[in-house]
Amino acid sequence: MLNRRVVIKLSGAVQGVGFRPFVYNLANKLGIKGYVLNNGKGVYIEAEGSEESLKDFIIRINLEKPPLSNIFSQEVEFFNNLKNFTDFQIVHSDEKGLKEAFILPDISVCDECLKELFDKNNRRYLYPFITCTNCGPRFSIIESLPYDRENTTMKTFKMCPDCEEEYNNPANRRFHAQPNGCSICGPQIFLYTKEREYISEGFNSLNHIKNAILEGKVVAVKGIGGFHLVCDATNDDAVRTLRDRKKRLEKPFAIMFKDIDSIKRYADLTLYEEIGILFPERPIVLVKRKEKTDLSNYVAPDIDKIGVFLPYSPIHYILLHLIDKPVVMTSANLSDEPIVKDNEEAFEKLSNFTDYILIHNRDIRNRVDDSVIFFIEDRRFFIRRSRGYAPLPLKLPYKLKKRVLTVGGHQKVTIGIGFDDKIFLSQHIGDLETFSSRQSFEDIVYTFFNLYEFFPDVVVSDLHPGYYSTIWAEEFSEKHNTQHIKIQHHYAHGLSVMIDNLLENRDVLSICWDGTGYGIDGNIWGGEFLITNYHSFKRVLHFDYFKLIGGEKAVKEPRRVALSILMDMYKEKILSLNIPTLKAFSERELENLNKAYTRSINTPLSSSVGRLFDAVASILDIRQVLSFEGQSGMIMERLYDSSIKDFYRFSMKGNVLDWREIFEGVIKDRENKSLAVSRFINTLVEIVLRIAKYYQLPVGISGGVFQNKVLTQLLIEKSIKEKIKLYTHKNVPPNDGGLSLGQCGTIFET
Ligand code: ZN
Ligand code: ZN
Ligand code: FE
Repeated sequence: MLNRRVVIKLSGAVQGVGFRPFVYNLANKLGIKGYVLNNGKGVYIEAEGSEESLKDFIIRINLEKPPLSNIFSQEVEFFNNLKNFTDFQIVHSDEKGLKEAFILPDISVCDECLKELFDKNNRRYLYPFITCTNCGPRFSIIESLPYDRENTTMKTFKMCPDCEEEYNNPANRRFHAQPNGCSICGPQIFLYTKEREYISEGFNSLNHIKNAILEGKVVAVKGIGGFHLVCDATNDDAVRTLRDRKKRLEKPFAIMFKDIDSIKRYADLTLYEEIGILFPERPIVLVKRKEKTDLSNYVAPDIDKIGVFLPYSPIHYILLHLIDKPVVMTSANLSDEPIVKDNEEAFEKLSNFTDYILIHNRDIRNRVDDSVIFFIEDRRFFIRRSRGYAPLPLKLPYKLKKRVLTVGGHQKVTIGIGFDDKIFLSQHIGDLETFSSRQSFEDIVYTFFNLYEFFPDVVVSDLHPGYYSTIWAEEFSEKHNTQHIKIQHHYAHGLSVMIDNLLENRDVLSICWDGTGYGIDGNIWGGEFLITNYHSFKRVLHFDYFKLIGGEKAVKEPRRVALSILMDMYKEKILSLNIPTLKAFSERELENLNKAYTRSINTPLSSSVGRLFDAVASILDIRQVLSFEGQSGMIMERLYDSSIKDFYRFSMKGNVLDWREIFEGVIKDRENKSLAVSRFINTLVEIVLRIAKYYQLPVGISGGVFQNKVLTQLLIEKSIKEKIKLYTHKNVPPNDGGLSLGQCGTIFET
């Protein structure tokens, strides 16, 4: 039979997942000759054999490909001229060509490695860096493409003969596993006091930490994408100490458990939540906590949910195995700074938080925070898309006209680089408040440029003139002579949910509710109803403006928002009202704030639904001052009573939605918090349904307010009943972490 030659080009998540050894083994099984290599675009195969066997080869590549791989596109071309290969080889990577192979995210230890980790007879027994081609760090250690050991932070470790043998043996699970190593040749862990006194290393150090944690101490532990602060989650004193030191009064801490059964003792899981927790991405999953467990109440005060996750690095596995109790596992960072990733940095910055510091000598090149998700039935919602997901790209509904860099907003920033029909989204960068978070932002932008040998033709930022990212984009564009486009915040939210659902270019009613976003009239928007498509948007309706007394201060103090609402509604009669908001101020403060309100001194106008939630929280005396963003909404979710079906009256004048009648209702019901909260949330749902029916358009919802599970769940249920097409987010968060996706939406070839 006549032999033929075929060239197969695969792109997608095909590097660092054992693809080449898989192809090698398959080719040998089928008697196919040729070679396979990794290049900047993905995997390149050239093969010769009978037409039958080549066909079989191609089909089986697609059917039997390694579990973590994902083929985004493939090209196959047959040739008649032969090169007469004599065997099948894995050829060293070809570094030329446009770099667009996908870099894989960091994946949890696989089952096979886990078995070895706890097998006394295995040479990697309790070795905290055990890994293979199917698991372990990727993005966090990569310096450049292609994904080869010399291009990772593993390059400083020279493999011992045993590891080398595995690495070069195509039949071995560790064949070309770039982070391969063992206790003889690979990375090691070391334990220090916070004063930097050496204590111990290896397994002894983990044993030491175990005792410290069980005694109520706080320990910093270097993991995959950065350091965590760890303490016993059942020990009130330990958790309180951590809160005091971190000055993080109430914001919930994530809790890591030994296994899924231990999670089930502390939380009621749905099937989807259980699967989500077990996924190899190992995100933090927000779930309903059980009452009456030994979990400290300080882990998530006044909230009925907890963020839970399973171990994902071998260090976590050994530690949790030893401790056998849930532990608080929270990102180690100074407030508003990025997660600490380097050893030196840890000693400098973490000594005030912790008693011990566990470091290791494998450098983290790219810091990656833990991802956070929650489920509504089978729908997965991101609160933070980071470790386990970044830097995988998302597919776009259209091709981009230009190479685009999107820089997000100001809070929960992520960036994106887009070309062709995809956009590579970065890990969570955080709020661009501090010098070091701004440095991290810039580092991540250039890391993405370098990894993908990318340079933008156009930079897209928010419209806000004061955002660091806008100013950065402006300067960058001037310096490099690229185009700079500014997109209104809520338009970007609307585009984000459209792209997330791969919608075609058509009008969508985008309902974008959040805390803040610069409007085209210069006011602070956040209660927006926009008609959006990929060319333009129109603001068809918005919540009426109210004054934010003291500007930024009002964001942290619900009582200021409520006072403004009360002043608007009752004027000077306000002092005769018996409302908790008024008691939250001293007489002196009230006088000053009333003056500021009346004379409009530092009282920017806002239509933010996030702030309306806050105002309700103040009037009901749920919270007068917040200790973290979104707190009032989270507490109100717990107070929601699903047996209450009615809602408050509301009215519209022109394109303004009046909140006054809604607040009359809240004030009347204020003695019954649960009733008022339920009716308030029901009112928001009713508003969405009513406007959706009026416009007869598909609806997209985006913005931080829709992280409220009760609100979004009601909207999903009711829109199905009312036959309204409702689009929610799938792959990026509804909050500002999703802006970098939406910002590319006006560059489409439509
Ligand atoms: Zn493995
Ligand atoms: Zn070794
Ligand atoms: Fe926003």
